[in-house]
Amino acid sequence: MLKQYREIKESCKDAILFYRIGDFYEMFYDDAVTASKVLDIVLTSRNKNDPNPVPLCGVPHHSYEPYLNKLIEKGYKVAVCDQVEDPKDAKGVVRREVTRVVTPGLAGFLNGVDRAQKAVHHYLVAVHRDGEVWGIAFTDIATGDFRCLEMSGDEAALLSELGGLEPREVVVSEGADVSGTLKGRFVVSRVPVWVWDETYARKILCDQFQTATLSGFGCEAAPAGVIAAGAVLHYVRETQKVGRMAHLRALRLHDGRERMRIGEDSRKNLNVDELADLLDRTKTAMGARKFREWFLAPLVQKAKIEERLDAVGELSGRPRVLEAVQACLQNVYDLERISSRLSLGTANARDMRALADSLEALGRTAPILSELKTAVFSRLASDWDASPKLKEEIAKTLVDAPPLGLKDGGIVRDGVRTELDELKKIQADAKGAIAAIEERERKRTGIASLKVRFNQVFGYYLEVTAAHLSKVPPDFIRKQTLTNAERFITPELKSFEDKVLGAEERIKGLEYEIFCQLREKALASVPALQAQAERVAELDALQSLAEYARGTRAVRPEIREDGVLRIRQGRHPLVENNLPAGSFVPNDLSVDAAADRLLMITGPNMAGKSTVIRQAGVIALMAQAGSFVPADSAEIGIVDQIFTRVGAADRLARGESTFMVEMCETANILHNATEKSLVLLDEIGRGTSTFDGISIAWAVAEHLHDVLKSRALFATHYHELIDLAVTRRGIKNCNVAVKQDGDDVVFLYRLVPGGMNHSFGIHVARLAGLPPEVVERAKEVLKNLESGELEPEGQPRIAKKRSKRGEGQESLF
Ligand code: ADP
Repeated sequence: MLKQYREIKESCKDAILFYRIGDFYEMFYDDAVTASKVLDIVLTSRNKNDPNPVPLCGVPHHSYEPYLNKLIEKGYKVAVCDQVEDPKDAKGVVRREVTRVVTPGLAGFLNGVDRAQKAVHHYLVAVHRDGEVWGIAFTDIATGDFRCLEMSGDEAALLSELGGLEPREVVVSEGADVSGTLKGRFVVSRVPVWVWDETYARKILCDQFQTATLSGFGCEAAPAGVIAAGAVLHYVRETQKVGRMAHLRALRLHDGRERMRIGEDSRKNLNVDELADLLDRTKTAMGARKFREWFLAPLVQKAKIEERLDAVGELSGRPRVLEAVQACLQNVYDLERISSRLSLGTANARDMRALADSLEALGRTAPILSELKTAVFSRLASDWDASPKLKEEIAKTLVDAPPLGLKDGGIVRDGVRTELDELKKIQADAKGAIAAIEERERKRTGIASLKVRFNQVFGYYLEVTAAHLSKVPPDFIRKQTLTNAERFITPELKSFEDKVLGAEERIKGLEYEIFCQLREKALASVPALQAQAERVAELDALQSLAEYARGTRAVRPEIREDGVLRIRQGRHPLVENNLPAGSFVPNDLSVDAAADRLLMITGPNMAGKSTVIRQAGVIALMAQAGSFVPADSAEIGIVDQIFTRVGAADRLARGESTFMVEMCETANILHNATEKSLVLLDEIGRGTSTFDGISIAWAVAEHLHDVLKSRALFATHYHELIDLAVTRRGIKNCNVAVKQDGDDVVFLYRLVPGGMNHSFGIHVARLAGLPPEVVERAKEVLKNLESGELEPEGQPRIAKKRSKRGEGQESLF
């Protein structure tokens, strides 16, 4: 057996092998050592007397999924190896084969259709490098989502794109060097070099989609993306040996230009994930995924944004309808997952019931939808497909609460098939006859305690306690003697037993057959179910936005094509949520790419600078996701990308100093920001000496203003930077007000015009308990330093620019 084990293990070296023996999946050698640690299960060995014992651990086969999931979550792959012939027929060792390989990127369908589970995408991504171009493809096998794209750019651009996808696993070519990029960040898997070929990719994709060409999918313009898609599919097929993957039906082009780009940094700095969680009021798993998607990649086209806002506006204004929609969606399970389980052949009777219940709820939704007038709802209503036939079929075939197992009967209703009903009757009659035998034998023998019992070894038997053995008639056949009882059978008992057991066997077989036929029928509906799931997701995400819009003080933003960003009495949803009700101070803020495009926001630490600049980013993002926004009014000139440089990102673990990280991020911004971008810079230049810091911040601000012309919000405690406004018309100063009350400072959290020419750093030092003489001396030194800031004409000295030839000094303005 170990020889067979080693042979199989050879074919899946990078996975932990679950090797089926009897009722267990066993792991051996290093797999056992690793798994026992990760799973916290006992490590033993096969033969303890052996000088080199084989390490061993195991998990029960009927409940192995939680163990498997845990390994997958930790980034391991698991190859499941089953017995593929009946042990009774085996000559020698039972034949075994790897029936599937579960990897982090392909684990999404594992769990059932629990509505409560966190609805995130499980993307398996493939990356292909073709000259200057990246080809990227990704699929969520749990939902059938399959897309590809092409993009140019360096490795940072790739990482930023991948960051938005949150891959569970990234597939690359066997030759690819990923040490500087993917390694350590993602679970990386390899596919042979020959797979990364356009001809092969087209062939395998066409075969999957059952089409002659790919031209219908709109991916012609992205050959590198198609190659990556081919590799994804190749990998999926290699690992998922069972099932037809019928739910992978189409490849779509993922067009990044139709979305606002939020890099990995901005996503973290603006807490986009927490924001989506905070605002999420979806009722279904599909809706929750869609909702997150909308926040991670907001829209950039005015018409599309307004279409969503119209829908949100209408629905939030009709609370009755909104509540009716919510009540229906509440009963809808994850149709995407059910579809994939159908395709993979893993759907059980409970999945089917969940499907029927969901379809029932969707049927009730249709008339509600038709009450709504907005374009999106009309479209949804006219395409709405609650598959009533399929629902009927399932409802009349399966019992209301079927068991998990498919082969033990108990899943099919009476009246579905005559043969099944007859078998059930035979079974019931024979059971009744057996019960009657007990009664009769008691009377005949005079043993009142005589019992008919059942166990797996003997089937039905008569049990007589030792005290009454003398009364046992000669036609009882003795089977077993216990300490104080004996067990007997009779030919009559056995003949009824045959009927019961025979009928039971056939009932189980027949029920399974009926179930499989039903599942087969449902499989044909997978394309329709997937399309409907998409509509449900959209409706759910919209009702979630509508619920937010009506439940909070939020307004519909005005979407503009120009470069305005004007917010009256805006609030930061996350910060506000963390503060006692009513204590958040709303703020006005305005920038305009055509005029005042850069705001220099000064103020001491903890004054609320970060909050006010992030708030602007968050509000723009929410608006473009189609949401109402937390403000009294908001005019949002469409933002193509949000860039942020906030605080100290923790990349120290990768050996980069904080300052280096800060500069890399700043460089990225200066290379990629456009006139339509929104740039949020918080305390730039902080990781170095004050003079360095101020100089860099100064130059960056000038470049943003003069060259890139992006809308930019600069938060800084370097009050020296307020002098920039003197040199540039498009730079405005404001500060987060503080009130000085004697030696005390009170934070007001209010953004007011004008610069703050005071850092209050020394004040904070005093509060922290620095000795008075040190504080006094610091004030003196500060005064000396500040006196050197302006030159005699009142212009800031640090704005001076050397002429090219380096002779003398030339004023900027
Ligand atoms: P800074 O960037 O100036 O150091 P932050 O923006 O990080 O300051 O804000 C510090 C803290 O002040 C926040 O965690 C929050 O508790 C509080 N705060 C910020 N803005 C406001 C506001 N508008 N209203 C009320 N409290 C605020």
